[in-house]
Amino acid sequence: MQNPERFDVIIENGTVIDPANKRNGRFDVAIAGGKIAAVEPSLAQAESAERVDATDHLVIPGMIDTHGHVYEGVTGTFGLNADMVGVHSGVTTVIDQGGPSCMTIGGFRNFVHDTAKTRALCFISTYLVGGLEGHMYPDLYGPGGVNVEHTTRVALENMDIVRGIKAHAEIGGQSRWGLEVIKTGKQIARDVGVPIYIHLGQLWPTADSAEIPDADELIRELTPLMEPGDVMAHPFTRHPGGFVSSTGKVHPILLEAVHNHGVRADVGHGSHFSFDVARRVLDEDIVPFTLGADMHGYNVKVPSKTADSVVESNPFFGVAPFNLTIAMTEMLHLGVPLETVIAMVTSNPATLIGMSDTLGALTVGNGADVSVLRIDTGRFKLSDNSGEQVVSEKLVRPVFCLRDGVRFESNSALIPDAIAA
Ligand SMILES: [Zn+2]
Repeated sequence: MQNPERFDVIIENGTVIDPANKRNGRFDVAIAGGKIAAVEPSLAQAESAERVDATDHLVIPGMIDTHGHVYEGVTGTFGLNADMVGVHSGVTTVIDQGGPSCMTIGGFRNFVHDTAKTRALCFISTYLVGGLEGHMYPDLYGPGGVNVEHTTRVALENMDIVRGIKAHAEIGGQSRWGLEVIKTGKQIARDVGVPIYIHLGQLWPTADSAEIPDADELIRELTPLMEPGDVMAHPFTRHPGGFVSSTGKVHPILLEAVHNHGVRADVGHGSHFSFDVARRVLDEDIVPFTLGADMHGYNVKVPSKTADSVVESNPFFGVAPFNLTIAMTEMLHLGVPLETVIAMVTSNPATLIGMSDTLGALTVGNGADVSVLRIDTGRFKLSDNSGEQVVSEKLVRPVFCLRDGVRFESNSALIPDAIAA
């Protein structure tokens, strides 16, 4: 097709995978005025101020990380720089999971959303204090630390950046308060009309005085509270209380919820991820809807002023290097098809946050959010925090991204180096 107009840039000769538009093949992508202007098999004849050769690269909609912790400066050591996790890692949108609360959303808007080059959105915390220091002090997160009316009102006032509600279901909280706080979070989500995102896997130590709750029983009580579109996170967690029960198999009630009731799983990689658990879950045909890297100051190597002993004593301390593209590599290694993996970081997260009309697709007229990746071949060592190592023959690497047409190289210090096997 001949295009009479002049484009700002054409990304040419790449392999476009755009699940929302059912494209998978060689296409040229033209950008003008910060928007996707054309996607055609060839724009070789078109006029453009600039051409970028993407031969042997994947060109996909701007990646969306469904699980970030980027409330830098407020959530302490826990919160990373949004652009290191985001545009400088090839990721155009990062969703902070539960950092900001009804009391601190203003700071998130002013100092993260408005200043980052990355599109920074959030699932607002169920708890008044939000995710300070990664929820280090359990006493702040009981029923007395929640206010339905306040959080609902603030969420509704900030719907441009608040796309869901974050809460935790795990045996430390269960030993103190049962599921009362989760039910409150669910009520907020219902009143606001957004999904709730539930962290699974032990977070807090159990209360000294109480009996240690049964993690399997917790899942059986929790799952019926979930509605279509709600998200259960960390299905591959090595901590107790994930998708796999003490029998070593996926909870039947979760199979039913995911397969037949529209409940979604988000990988929420973090230091949770276990190859062994992932295989068990994938073997029972549960493919998470979204990926979610879950990087924070305790599970990635980041220049930090915090003493090593403090970082290492955190329950989610991790040594296995990872980020969103490593998580993609692991999914490929585990046999998830490439197109599904791409959907997990583009069209599916856009659907999850109710923004598929503007994000997650290379649709003409959308803002030009584009991620360009390379898949290296060779023998690469991957590891998890259970000590398992695997050799992957592929390694997904971010190269650059455009957010609303502005280019950012993938040069974040948080991108792990390739490790030869
Ligand atoms: Zn997290």
